[in-house]
Amino acid sequence: MVYPIVVYGSPILRQVAREIDPGYPGLKQLLADMFETMYKADGMGLAAPQIGKSIRIFVVDGTSLEDEDPSMKDFKKAFINPKIIQLEGDTSIMNEGCLSLPKLREDVDRHNKVRIRYCDENFSSCEEVYEGLKARVIQHEYDHLDGVMFIDRIPPLRRKLLKGKLNDISKCKVDVPYKIKLLK
Ligand SMILES: [Zn+2]
Repeated sequence: MVYPIVVYGSPILRQVAREIDPGYPGLKQLLADMFETMYKADGMGLAAPQIGKSIRIFVVDGTSLEDEDPSMKDFKKAFINPKIIQLEGDTSIMNEGCLSLPKLREDVDRHNKVRIRYCDENFSSCEEVYEGLKARVIQHEYDHLDGVMFIDRIPPLRRKLLKGKLNDISKCKVDVPYKIKLLK
């Protein structure tokens, strides 16, 4: 099932999401639906709050970029109850977008390396280090679980300039090729 994407202006995107336990009903289906929803919207990552569920899950799939960036091979995963243990390395600036902020792209400064502990789709505990674009995608999605969006990580002046566009998004006054909704 494809969910509509919850857009900026919806309070759920500003909440700290809660952890789930292994018995969470319909977890398998939910993960499948999250992947399906992400593909439909042509995204590389999707966090549960973006489909209206305030729980600590996000999915990623960067494998379509494998030709340009071989490190993206196998980067298709579900992260359940993730915890960033450490942000390492230098930071770098890269242009980012977000399915909940349609048509906005901004330069965002992030760490190049992240150590993360999480449960996979079978609720097995994992701890891994990711670098480069993978580290960026993970940090972006992880932020969603804490109610943070990439526009919070750009200079305030830059953010001010986006006010009109943000206002339009919060009224769903934006033309996007996937279903969006404002969740009051
Ligand atoms: Zn996002």
